[in-house]
Amino acid sequence: MVKMADIVALAKRRGFIFPGSEIYGGIKGFWDYGPLGVELKNNIKREWWKSMVYERDDVVGIDAAIIMNPKVWEVSGHTEAFTDPLVECKVCHKRIRADHEQEIKKHEKSHKGKVKWTDPRTFNLLTEVYLGTTEPKQKTYLRGEVTQGVFVNFKNILDSTRMKIPFGVAQIGKAFRNEITPGNFTYRSREFEQMELEYFIQPEDKEAEKIFNYWKKQRMDWYISYGMRKEKLRFRKHESDERAHYAKFAEDIEYKAPFGWSEFEGIHHRGDWDLGRHKLKYKDDETGKEYTPWVIETSGGVDRTALFFLIDAYHKDKDRVVLRLHPKLAPYKVAVFPLLANKPKLVEKARKVFGKLRLSFHSAWDERGNIGKRYYAQDEIGTPWCVTVDFDTLKDDTVTIRDRDSTKQQRVSIGKIEKWIKDKINKHGKKI
Ligand code: ATP
Repeated sequence: MVKMADIVALAKRRGFIFPGSEIYGGIKGFWDYGPLGVELKNNIKREWWKSMVYERDDVVGIDAAIIMNPKVWEVSGHTEAFTDPLVECKVCHKRIRADHEQEIKKHEKSHKGKVKWTDPRTFNLLTEVYLGTTEPKQKTYLRGEVTQGVFVNFKNILDSTRMKIPFGVAQIGKAFRNEITPGNFTYRSREFEQMELEYFIQPEDKEAEKIFNYWKKQRMDWYISYGMRKEKLRFRKHESDERAHYAKFAEDIEYKAPFGWSEFEGIHHRGDWDLGRHKLKYKDDETGKEYTPWVIETSGGVDRTALFFLIDAYHKDKDRVVLRLHPKLAPYKVAVFPLLANKPKLVEKARKVFGKLRLSFHSAWDERGNIGKRYYAQDEIGTPWCVTVDFDTLKDDTVTIRDRDSTKQQRVSIGKIEKWIKDKINKHGKKI
């Protein structure tokens, strides 16, 4: 089993994820993505957008503002019901979410039963912000979920597109929650990104069940098609007492992380809760019937997805660490090296190859140390292929391409590298 400490150390050392505001001692629940982390996250978001928006006729995207009129949060029920219960140990003052049984048991065990809990108190998760320069300032909230931006624009979307029910609206963006106990690295943060789809349907139970099951399968298949191991994934139904205030029915996709089975995407049947509360309706042009549509939602976290892809891809073999990321998610697709850094002809030729490849793929350049060390350094950040320019290249215009996962090497002519890589990227991974 991968250790979280190894993931955290690799993420920091190689520039995936840094603690937020680190030089001032950090700030709990906030993380900064480094040069490789931003690539991984962007790749996840781009692939998600491709499959949810570009490859479908029935989904459009939007990008709503993070700060909205506070009425949105009052009407949606968040100011009242977007809460978590908290208990505090009266002996050591440790605070734990009252619904996190495992953490409670762990605390009781490690303190040999000398624990006294307060009664659970509820805390609202919305983060308050104050706008304006003169008193009284206007109080509102940083959005606690990106979804509301879709609902409040429902009419705008209908008026400006030709979407007809059933159809979906996709959105990726930041959300903020005043989490009581941020932790497990980026897993529970106070600032994070969500990628969500709101799929509007007719208010019928059979239709809702069919579409709920359809999206469940789509989303699970998506993770598997990017290489996540099937045996580390499962669905979990929400019990009626843990469902969010808006949900009629909910199931999570969970990953078996080093800290236990953990949610990273929820499929929710929100019924007519949100559109109903915002008093928004849909009119069927053909039948003239007006009704409040139901919504099936897929709500994933970009940060949790990035973390679980890092964990799932991490392999250690003695002192060699390999991140077996799907090439579409890997920060760099290819690295280019001159065999020797002190041979100007090799460097010049390798720079030319690099200059060409970087136009098509995010490419890395390395001329430090020996080839073996450069391979190790690229393996550790998940670069699928390394191209080496050597003395034979100067004679016959071919290079060596070394594969990250098999470590096998192959000779390819310079003119064909690009197509070779494109073919490999497209063929990579399992077909569902
Ligand atoms: P949890 O039970 O872990 O608090 P949730 O059920 O409240 O999560 P949702 O409201 O369904 O989460 O949010 C949808 C997705 O947003 C989650 O599946 C997760 O990927 C992401 N997410 C929610 N809260 C956080 C957080 N504090 N940090 C990082 N990602 C989060």
